[in-house]
Amino acid sequence: MHAVAGPHVSGVADMMVAMSPTASRDLLLGDLDEEQREAVLAPRGPVCVLAGAGTGKTRTITRRIAHLVTAGHVAPGQVLAVTFTQRAAGEMRARLRALTTDAGTAPTESVQAMTFHAAARRQLAYFWPRVVGSTDWQLLDSKFAIVAQAANRSGLPTGTDNVRDLAGEIEWAKASLITPEGYPDAVAENGRDIPFDAAKTAAAYAGYEALKSRSADLMLLDFDDLLLHTAAAIENDAAVAQEFRDRYRCFVVDEYQDVTPLQQRVLSAWLGGRDDLTVVGDANQTIYSFTGASPRYLLDFSRRFPDAAVVRLERDYRSTPQVVSLANRVIAAARGRMAGSKLHLVGQRPPGPNPTFQEHPDEAAEAAAVARSIKGLIESGTPASEIAVLYRINAQSEVYEEALTEAGVAFQVRGGEGFFSRQEIRQALLALHRVAERGTDTDATVPEVVRATLEPLGLTAEAPTGTQARERWEALVALAELVDDEVAQRPRLDLPSLLAELRQRADARHPPTVQGVTLASLHAAKGLEWDAVFLVGLADGTLPISHALSHGPDSEPVEEERRLLYVGITRARVHLTLSWALARNPGGRQGRRPSRFLNGIAPQSQRDDGPSRARKPRGPAPRCRICNEPLTSPPAIMLRRCESCPSDIDEHLLAELKDWRLRISKETSVPAYVVFTDNTLIAIAESMPTDDAALVAIPGIGARKLEQFGPDVLAMVKSRQSS
Ligand code: ATP
Ligand code: MG
Repeated sequence: MHAVAGPHVSGVADMMVAMSPTASRDLLLGDLDEEQREAVLAPRGPVCVLAGAGTGKTRTITRRIAHLVTAGHVAPGQVLAVTFTQRAAGEMRARLRALTTDAGTAPTESVQAMTFHAAARRQLAYFWPRVVGSTDWQLLDSKFAIVAQAANRSGLPTGTDNVRDLAGEIEWAKASLITPEGYPDAVAENGRDIPFDAAKTAAAYAGYEALKSRSADLMLLDFDDLLLHTAAAIENDAAVAQEFRDRYRCFVVDEYQDVTPLQQRVLSAWLGGRDDLTVVGDANQTIYSFTGASPRYLLDFSRRFPDAAVVRLERDYRSTPQVVSLANRVIAAARGRMAGSKLHLVGQRPPGPNPTFQEHPDEAAEAAAVARSIKGLIESGTPASEIAVLYRINAQSEVYEEALTEAGVAFQVRGGEGFFSRQEIRQALLALHRVAERGTDTDATVPEVVRATLEPLGLTAEAPTGTQARERWEALVALAELVDDEVAQRPRLDLPSLLAELRQRADARHPPTVQGVTLASLHAAKGLEWDAVFLVGLADGTLPISHALSHGPDSEPVEEERRLLYVGITRARVHLTLSWALARNPGGRQGRRPSRFLNGIAPQSQRDDGPSRARKPRGPAPRCRICNEPLTSPPAIMLRRCESCPSDIDEHLLAELKDWRLRISKETSVPAYVVFTDNTLIAIAESMPTDDAALVAIPGIGARKLEQFGPDVLAMVKSRQSS
């Protein structure tokens, strides 16, 4: 994560107490590079910092604010610093606080740093009685119910996801300053993927607006209305404008590439023809276009303000030169408008390991390999909280949750719940429980029953179009495939035992009490940083995602996917691993290719070297201890023999192991599954390990389990051998 206040920053704070203005000025600037200093010292007026990831943009603007204040150019209370997310605003506040002196002469203490929405909400509350009069307003925390009503009246579907997708369309239109009447044309112009018929959506949007203001003495405002009304109040009322402009004189915007036309309108109203504005951003990190955000205001800044000081920062203080070089290569291939703003980053940190590229036969193997590497990193001293696994869509988290649980590594899923906590997965499991209770007397197989049960919940043959509907669909597909895997491993599994197994998995994933490894989508990782980053699932069709590809290989949606990869790469400080799988399921057709963004960057796909393509990227492939064939599927690797080779299991030992596991699980109140999986017990009962080395050679048994359970297990094997 970001170091909120680096050592230099607090050093500045402590020393400024007793310093002369000149000395404190030196301290504010001493640990900045030449270009950062230029941006900080630029005279009052428009300043634009165009810079890549990790170059110190956020550091630079907080210092600029401190400089303007300490030099007496502006009073701290007259500065308004805005950004887009609570997290980013919090970070800016923390960095500003860190510049405070402990004698109370805080140069930046009373600077307002907040989101656009928070600023607008506060201003509107203040000005409302004057501009609107006696009609009250209330903020709509959730627009869901009203959108649902509007959908119903316009003949649109009203399922939860449909309503959320409609709300997304309304939000996009409002953020883009598009009226209901303008919606159909705007959609056509933008080539926007839309979930419903454009005319019906426009009607529902108009209906939603009408429903909000139907009462004569109470207006309901959504978040976008806060911004709209704030802009209108300042634009239409000279007295309001005057009062506001006396109050705030200096504006600063972080992550300016994310500004929407609506937010830009508010910003222009705030400025009202003045030009005391500092913006910082990176057009190559534009990944929210689908919400209406546009980098054009950043890129056109010096056209709008011809006197602007434009500063480019190129030194990357976050990542090693190895990581920086990969980021440069990936973004160098970008096309279109943003490509014109390409910046070449120069890494400032000491060298580190080269990023690695790993191809795996299937997703389970990919996840198992990532979990192994993570364990290795943790064992060699990297804190779990400094490690992240980043993927394109949330449904991809499931295999990683499973693999990390299996490896005994704590984790948390960021910007979304864990797989089994997702609403559709809970619904699906409930529905399956009902089916199991009723009993099925058909000849249908378990996977068939599962698919039939999930179909009415949204498991259609084709992916739906809306974002929410698609997320739900992807999660259900992941569940259906999880079931296929389970049944492939244990063909006699019936529905009740399958559900018990899934329940155990879900229970094993209770949120950790300590900070663990972060699992997050690339979108949710924006602005964050970790020592080690695993970018997973980098197959073509996942990144770039297939619905972006449907716009054509050179389309803007595909370019946005490339920027997502760039954002992902630049989150890593030191260790970076990029991986993909050739098939989804073990034994499935290996029809996938690595992401097109890695062409000429990753070593050639191993699919091209013929039959040995399932070869593991690192170390020799494990071989069957019975027939010596290479092993590829996770259960086979776990058992250390082909699933089809005869089992030489000691059934008696297996039964003893299971009893023992049940006892331990009760004593320690953890699910049996967390102690050892069935496959691990089978592997023990087959290979009869007699010492620690033989025991840890079994996949699923690491240092921690060896220490906890090794003596018990070895004792059971010994007593079995001597009986
Ligand atoms: P992003 O695009 O991801 O938001 P950013 O450009 O805002 O990145 P910062 O977060 O400000 O970058 O800085 C990245 C890291 O580099 C931080 O840990 C910051 O403290 C450090 N840093 C920035 N400038 C310098 C400098 N001149 N000397 C040493 N470290 C620096
Ligand atoms: Mg930043």
